[in-house]
Amino acid sequence: MVFNCGQCGSCCMYLGDYIVIERQTGVFSFDCECVSTGTAFTAEVDNDKQQIFSDFSFPTAHPSACRFLRPDGDLLRCTIHRDSPAQCKFYRCVVMRISDTSGTCLGQVTGTLALYTDDKNLRKVWEEMEHLRPKSDNDAEPWIATYLKEKGYRIA
Ligand code: SF4
Ligand code: SF4
Repeated sequence: MVFNCGQCGSCCMYLGDYIVIERQTGVFSFDCECVSTGTAFTAEVDNDKQQIFSDFSFPTAHPSACRFLRPDGDLLRCTIHRDSPAQCKFYRCVVMRISDTSGTCLGQVTGTLALYTDDKNLRKVWEEMEHLRPKSDNDAEPWIATYLKEKGYRIA
């Protein structure tokens, strides 16, 4: 399913310990490490985000947030979008929203195909489905959507 990031920034708010600046190498360039994968990377602040990056009031007020996150109007934006690590680029917070036939949202599924729901029936259907789904996440994603539709759920 097509994923459009709303640039709300909530997934970056607690990644300050995971996307770490090792040293500053220029006015807008940095040697960094993605701690969870142990991957070193270099990052330069995107040209069009240098102005918002230069305001440090947000990272000062939010010490747990990624050092590269900045407010921009109503958005919270990654200021190293071009150079951000692969796990950031490919992160998808929601790939499916699951509703009942009346349109009431019952849960959602992340890009790693984890279900978030408080609905016991949906949880049960999901657990039954997990034994049947294709192993590959790429194949599983459309398969799960079809499976849930056949069970009477609406998928968006
Ligand atoms: S991936 Fe999701 S949580 Fe993260 S900024 Fe985009 S919309 Fe927000
Ligand atoms: S590098 Fe960008 S996308 Fe990754 S956690 Fe930091 S602000 Fe978010």
